[in-house]
Amino acid sequence: MTPPAPDVRPVRLRWRPFRLPMRARFEAAHGVMAAREGVLLQLTDDSGRSGSGEASPIPSFGMGTVDDVLALLDAHGAALLGGAVLGAALPEGGPGVSSLRCALDVAALDLRGCIEGRSVASLLGEDAPASWVMANAVIGGGRASEVSTYGTAAQAVGYGVLKLKVGVGTVAEDIRRVAALRDACPEALIRLDANGAWDEVTATEAIEGFAPFGIELLEQPVPAGEIDALARINAAAPYPIAADEAVGDPALLERILEQRAARIIVLKPMVLGGLTAARAVAARAAERGIGTIVTTTFDSSVGTAAAAHLAASLADGPAHGLSTGEHLAADLVARTLVPERGRLAVPQAPGLGIEIDEASLEVVATAPWREMDVR
Ligand SMILES: [Mg+2]
Repeated sequence: MTPPAPDVRPVRLRWRPFRLPMRARFEAAHGVMAAREGVLLQLTDDSGRSGSGEASPIPSFGMGTVDDVLALLDAHGAALLGGAVLGAALPEGGPGVSSLRCALDVAALDLRGCIEGRSVASLLGEDAPASWVMANAVIGGGRASEVSTYGTAAQAVGYGVLKLKVGVGTVAEDIRRVAALRDACPEALIRLDANGAWDEVTATEAIEGFAPFGIELLEQPVPAGEIDALARINAAAPYPIAADEAVGDPALLERILEQRAARIIVLKPMVLGGLTAARAVAARAAERGIGTIVTTTFDSSVGTAAAAHLAASLADGPAHGLSTGEHLAADLVARTLVPERGRLAVPQAPGLGIEIDEASLEVVATAPWREMDVR
């Protein structure tokens, strides 16, 4: 039995916004990303130990912006640390809320792990967590020839699972791109993500068109709100359909679970409001025979480490979306967390197991630290 956890009692909250440039513009059906903006948040206890989390909303996911997160911090400040649950003072939902909840949850788990000398993964799960997790490579938009070049390069560095963004151009173009990837990487598991780009008829046509190329799974073929269409597509598809964008809305998530509208649910801690909330969703999904995949939201290594600990705490499943560090041109730590040979090592030091690098933070910070003591 795990002994009861000591309470985490932060006495100070501080935060600093940052902007991480991407190595190259990353294209998906919902737009092009040139940089990632977020807010680093730290909780410190009265012995001077601290825990870190990040709030990096994706505006095109309807998660609000960094300005929304900063406004919430200004409005609620130290009150976020009061009450029985961290962040209890926050509104139920709204722009910036889920990512700020995630930052608070991750920072509290990091702090608690440092106090107890345990990793965040071991705090989350009952069983001994994995020390590494499988990761997929991500391939954005691009023509068939570019897709096969990226696929070959990813395979050469050891990735066995390749995730290709589809739904950017026509279905015929996508089929050519999938065919080119399969041709270049005959042994790989190929996973696709349409980011909700299609209507039901187009999705059905695309799913049939991809089938001859051996597809591991397809994420979010139709827009987030179309749960009935998702359920029909899922029931008929020759390979698993995953829900991603739909999972961020609690009412839609309930419908997915109730209707078993997907075989897999994508868990994004930044969208779900933290690791604790994501674990709860995973448990409810498992009761209904629905699997889970953990993915980052193109976070800094703080968010990637958090997602890796969550993935390590879950039962074996498909590869996770943990390779996004490869697309960052700067970070908050000295060495960005990236997979090696298709696997991401889960940091084993207490807490998240990573250290913020002050010099790196100085380069990417867009404003000074702000700090509030709990009275
Ligand atoms: Mg997705």
